[in-house]
Amino acid sequence: MSELNPFKIAQAQLDEAVGILGLDKATHDLLRWPMREFRFLLPVRMDSGETRIFHAYRVQYNAARGPTKGGLRWHPDETIDTVRALAAWMTWKTSVVDIPLGGGKGGVTCNPKELSETEKERLARAYIRAAAPHLAVDRDVPAPDVYTTPQIMAWMLDEYETIQGCKHPGVITGKPIPLGGSQGRGDATARGGVYTVREATKALGIDAAKTSYAIQGFGNAGQFAATLHREVLGGGTLAAISDSGGGVYCKNGIDPDKAIHYKQETGRVAGLPGTEPISNEDLLELDVDVLYPSALENAITADNAARIKAKISCELANGPTTPEADKILFKNGVFVIPDFLANAGGVTVSYFEQVQNTYNYYWTLEDVHSQLDRRMTDAFHAVHDMSKKESVHMRLAAYLVSVSRVAEACKLRGWV
Ligand code: NAD
Repeated sequence: MSELNPFKIAQAQLDEAVGILGLDKATHDLLRWPMREFRFLLPVRMDSGETRIFHAYRVQYNAARGPTKGGLRWHPDETIDTVRALAAWMTWKTSVVDIPLGGGKGGVTCNPKELSETEKERLARAYIRAAAPHLAVDRDVPAPDVYTTPQIMAWMLDEYETIQGCKHPGVITGKPIPLGGSQGRGDATARGGVYTVREATKALGIDAAKTSYAIQGFGNAGQFAATLHREVLGGGTLAAISDSGGGVYCKNGIDPDKAIHYKQETGRVAGLPGTEPISNEDLLELDVDVLYPSALENAITADNAARIKAKISCELANGPTTPEADKILFKNGVFVIPDFLANAGGVTVSYFEQVQNTYNYYWTLEDVHSQLDRRMTDAFHAVHDMSKKESVHMRLAAYLVSVSRVAEACKLRGWV
């Protein structure tokens, strides 16, 4: 169904912003499509001795503000359109946090759960052999995304540097720390999101330390959010968590550390001692101060948006709310911190990683946290001010801020 095609959704969101900004047709046409995209066929020798051909992509959406930047996703459902959408959102994400980068994304259509470690290594190296001519510190810089890890970044860096015959640690971010990775990269996405929640509670006059919160998707982003919410906001009651196997609820609060330990031990949250079961649908509709959609796309749709009671929805996931649902949430006064603002902490610390690689001088964890806090706080207020000025919801306001910056860079370059 074309309405659920993420690239069509990304284009529709852009169209609305362009209409309000009154951009000319050439700028609109330029921003609606990737400026460059590559498609690769990757032959990879499997452990069995047979050769399999993988379909792979790299999309460089817009480079007006700097080298394109964006993760590499390995997923069975990966298509050129998912990569285009994620590359567009990366363009708006780097712009909203005002870092000097453009947006890009890569993908390989594969099921990593079926690949051995050696097959993953050969696939990672094959991807770089195909993409290397189009990658460089000052051209296009990949990073991890769904199902790609710091180890995969390490193999890709090694292949790139072997091809080039010299060291280029900044060509890939999300590396292991011994290879030039940054302190604070691991929890950066959730940390950045929690900083924006702290600012939202101030703006809405909510007592941050007394907030209740619920997390849909207790994975990488969700688990860090569970602990960081209390650390950054000075308190809070975690009412419910869920994963793909179901959810758990406790009126008096779930201990985040115990929940993480239990999830690591059992691979699920269901059955966590001291809690009662809750469905994923009911979790989303809980009467909490803050909801963290941290799982997949299209969690909040026209079907359930009217029943969302949270005061703030902080979208750590990409694309969890459909455009129809956005309108309903706005009408009902749910304050949405949109995905490409809420989860921009990851790319922001990736940018810090590149800066450190360039200087060959490494920051402390405290440096990373304070720089991240400043970027996320500034970005939140730029978007919030725009939302008040134009009387629009936060997602549209984020588009207005980001798209106008990218459009200005295109104009200054004389492209339009
Ligand atoms: P992850 O795979 O570690 O975690 C996802 C979690 O969601 C898993 O626990 C899974 O069981 C759960 N889940 C899946 N379907 C669910 C459902 N229907 N209901 C409830 N839970 C469900 O992935 P992640 O890295 O935490 O990413 C989660 C989201 O955050 C994705 O949309 C991703 O694009 C986005 N994101 C992550 C990062 C990051 O740095 N990790 C950065 C930017 C955006």
